Amino acid sequence: MSPTPEQVMQFLYALRSRGVRDRAVLTAMEKVDRGLFVEGVFSDRAYEDVPLPIACGQTISQPSIVGLMTQAAEIGPRHHVLEVGTGAGYQAAILSQLARRVWTVERHRPLSRAAERRFKALDLTNVTVISGDGSFGLPDQAPFDRIVVTAAAEDPPGPLLAQLRDGGIMVVPVGQSDAVQSLIKVTRTGDGFEYEELRSVRFVPLVEGVASESGT
Ligand code: SAH
Repeated sequence: MSPTPEQVMQFLYALRSRGVRDRAVLTAMEKVDRGLFVEGVFSDRAYEDVPLPIACGQTISQPSIVGLMTQAAEIGPRHHVLEVGTGAGYQAAILSQLARRVWTVERHRPLSRAAERRFKALDLTNVTVISGDGSFGLPDQAPFDRIVVTAAAEDPPGPLLAQLRDGGIMVVPVGQSDAVQSLIKVTRTGDGFEYEELRSVRFVPLVEGVASESGT
């Protein structure tokens, strides 16, 4: 079911009041129906600014955090973007509205399959879903103009930093998985990196390796 006009207004109001101001990001978020990424008992809360449970013990991020991360990544229309942590695919769908191409990697195969089905149904032809461990990036597709990591690492993963183009931006939550983490914006300047702390966040952990079929 599509959102009512009132739900859309409240959704956009929540984004703006939490600091999502970029017009292109707001337009992308108005266009992509979050209701298509939330299933079952939580589907009636899809337009609230809250994270919600999805399959495999994971979560769909809070919309305002998706918006702030997308805004911080300064996505342009020619960019090649890597996302680590597809989950339901909501963040990747937003990125696909703004970038030329998006690769998104997920370690739980049932999630990557479901996300792929959603992208097909939405006719998002510029997104490629890969089942695997995204903490090593995608060396064959590198370098990337932008990298968005949606699971928390203790430090920005080295292989991802190495796959960032000069001048490129990576947005990544950093910190211990069971504590509050910091959302960090990393900008590559030649061989160096500049780090900016944006805000505190709470994400599921970045876990190495591919999940077993039993779900861990
Ligand atoms: N981007 C999602 C948020 C998903 S939650 C959204 O739009 O809402 C984070 C996801 O990262 C989970 O699905 C988890 O399984 C995945 N993940 C954790 N570690 C990973 C890794 N090493 N490689 C790929 N995916 C990983």
